[in-house]
Amino acid sequence: MKKKGVVVLGATGSIGLSTARVLEQFPDRFEVISLVARNNLDELARQAGLFKPRTVITTDERLTETLQSKLPAGVKGEGGWEPVMQAVTAPETDVVVCAIVGTGGLEPVVAAIRAGKTIALASKEVMVMAGEIVRRELAASPTAKLVPVDSEHSAIFQCLAGRPECEVKNLLITASGGAFRSWSMEEIAKATLQDALKHPNWSMGPKVTIDSASLMNKALEMVEARYIFDVVPEKIKVVLHPQSIVHSMVELCDNSVIAQLCRTDMRFAIQYALTYPERFDGALPAMDFETLLKLEFSAPDRQKYPSIGFAEEAMRRGGTMPAVMNAANEIAVERFRREEIRFTQIWSIVEKTMAAHDPHPQESFAVIKEADAWARAFAGQM
Ligand code: MG
Repeated sequence: MKKKGVVVLGATGSIGLSTARVLEQFPDRFEVISLVARNNLDELARQAGLFKPRTVITTDERLTETLQSKLPAGVKGEGGWEPVMQAVTAPETDVVVCAIVGTGGLEPVVAAIRAGKTIALASKEVMVMAGEIVRRELAASPTAKLVPVDSEHSAIFQCLAGRPECEVKNLLITASGGAFRSWSMEEIAKATLQDALKHPNWSMGPKVTIDSASLMNKALEMVEARYIFDVVPEKIKVVLHPQSIVHSMVELCDNSVIAQLCRTDMRFAIQYALTYPERFDGALPAMDFETLLKLEFSAPDRQKYPSIGFAEEAMRRGGTMPAVMNAANEIAVERFRREEIRFTQIWSIVEKTMAAHDPHPQESFAVIKEADAWARAFAGQM
């Protein structure tokens, strides 16, 4: 059997590390073509020893020589974005895992789509900022596929299983409710940084944990879903589900609801994106029915969580508005982490930045990056 050739963008981040653990399970099924990261050279070297890829790339060109000195014999070290573009479009590459934080994933993803590759997409920014561009590129490249790696979108992808949009009534994105799910609005108004950093179910970086507490993470995921699945904004709903066992659901036109369940471990979504359309028997933990004893669902309080309204507005206006929502939130979260602003001011900064923006169509990355830079400056000065 021919092995699938895999390129991992963001190999040393948390998704990258989980991807390595999945790839390690299946040495006969996958061949790692290239590993890409910025500056964690020791982890790149460790994975290079494990997978013997053709190339290992640091996006910081100045680190190329140091990287090469750490790599095992026969593995070539490269630097900068040009080798990244070559790796994602190389004939031996079948799947590109995109787990780069920030905007670095945009150009490589488009290049990989044009080359007809499968994209295992973990970077939220790609669809949030440039969803319209990515959809146009996918429509023009019939062999390219996009398989989501975010747990909610992976769940929806698995529930949809290729069903036509006319059969889909709603995409139901589940949300744990984050650190403040049992807090009142008055209590949230007094929340500290330490309070916001306590996520009940998933252990993640500080940015995502704060985004879970504010539900801005859900807002970004709503926009992602709109573009990944190409459905109208009205069909995207959020359901609170504190246990994070049902990763999301799809409500069909006959009112039947299909759900996907598994343990809270990112390797499920990563492994499925890598093996799609097949499923492999690997090392993932089985569901145990103790955890299923209690599954709760409720509608989110839209006043307590204004983020849902922001996402609806961003999807409705489209163009550069989702990028502006994302940028304003990033700056607001940074300012909250520096303890310059209160938790609830994250929402007011996002709201005011969006209100001050007149969205432009997504004609190019330049237009998107310009709106992103404007929003960062605006949100930073408020
Ligand atoms: Mg998620």
